[in-house]
Amino acid sequence: MIGPFTYEALPMRVVFGAGSLARLPDEVAALGLTRVLVLCSPEQEVTGKQVAAALGAKAAGVLPEARMHVPMEVARRAQELAAELGADGCVAVGGGSAIGLGKAIALEHGLPVIAVPTTYAGSEMTPVWGLTEGGQKRTGRDIRVLPKSVIYDPEMTLTLPAQMSATSGINAIAHAVEGLYAPDATPIVSLMAEEGVRALATALPRVVADGSDLEARGEAQYGAWLCGAVLAATTMSLHHKLCHTLGGTLDLPHAQTHTVVLPHALAYNEPAAPEAVTALSRALGGVPDPARALWELACRLDVPRSLAELGMREEDIPRIADLAVADPYANPRPVTRDGVEALLRAAWTGAPPPRSAPTVQPRLTERRSRT
Ligand code: NAD
Repeated sequence: MIGPFTYEALPMRVVFGAGSLARLPDEVAALGLTRVLVLCSPEQEVTGKQVAAALGAKAAGVLPEARMHVPMEVARRAQELAAELGADGCVAVGGGSAIGLGKAIALEHGLPVIAVPTTYAGSEMTPVWGLTEGGQKRTGRDIRVLPKSVIYDPEMTLTLPAQMSATSGINAIAHAVEGLYAPDATPIVSLMAEEGVRALATALPRVVADGSDLEARGEAQYGAWLCGAVLAATTMSLHHKLCHTLGGTLDLPHAQTHTVVLPHALAYNEPAAPEAVTALSRALGGVPDPARALWELACRLDVPRSLAELGMREEDIPRIADLAVADPYANPRPVTRDGVEALLRAAWTGAPPPRSAPTVQPRLTERRSRT
């Protein structure tokens, strides 16, 4: 039986295809913008300046200061600069960090954001913002931060190193995995999730084998788009909660942490999420155990498989387990302190995820975190 469910479409405009960056001036004009601030991270300053040059007089300036998790001091500087320059919009060129900075400006001043994503993290499709202050990351949802227009140009990802390509792609897969067993999953969003996983799982090995394969880059971006849209539409569960806690508390790298934790979080939830398992099995080419298949994908892509490799100390496991269970949130399988500790221990060592246990009754806790 289909339903019951509630589905809300988000107002998104997507311009997709190799060379589509050339459409940026038209997108700026279509939004009626005349003075945009270009945002990027320091490593992509050259790209940011090229984008500003292509916009000519419509570029008010370039701020090459985007950082992971949007530190509050960087957000304040960006908000002040936008006001000083009289900017009427922002163009965020880069990964989740640059787009996150654009969202921080939108949150303060309501300026429209145009996103030109250059990783596969998926932030450009979501109304989710994040700000970090005093080691604490706050996140929230606000429709004002959803980019008005997204330009997916696979040529912009040709320079993304193999490891970052693979891990940001798996970060996107994680959105789709959790979207499939979300309490607010809907048939249309589940279709997007399954197709997003299929596209990324197919494209990433080709991207890693040959970073200049534009067709594979395009397919990976298509997958990132779909998976980002799933994140926007559904409530995330145990996997995102764990990664949020590991990143916020121990400052572990975002995309790599998602890559290591995902097979283990999925293995934990598989017994309580049979429909998600069926969809993921199809998406990954008919595999019997999607959690194991995602771990094997990480092996093929030669990306980190253990939290130890990312610099986490074994003695931090109990503290992270305590924090992860302290605040109840949605999850298909009841989250127990022992279960989370065992999951973290397996992820810490880098061992393959355990095979699925028999199906248990789904249960949802009352308070839900959507990020
Ligand atoms: P990132 O934006 O931090 O980029 C990582 C590094 O790769 C940076 O140095 C960047 O300059 C470089 N880089 C990016 N694209 C490149 C390219 N094409 N060529 C060469 N170098 C390139 O990484 P990310 O994984 O995209 O984003 C992570 C951040 O995004 C985290 O803060 C995370 O919380 C956030 N995020 C937010 C959402 C959301 O919906 N709000 C979703 C996913 C991720």
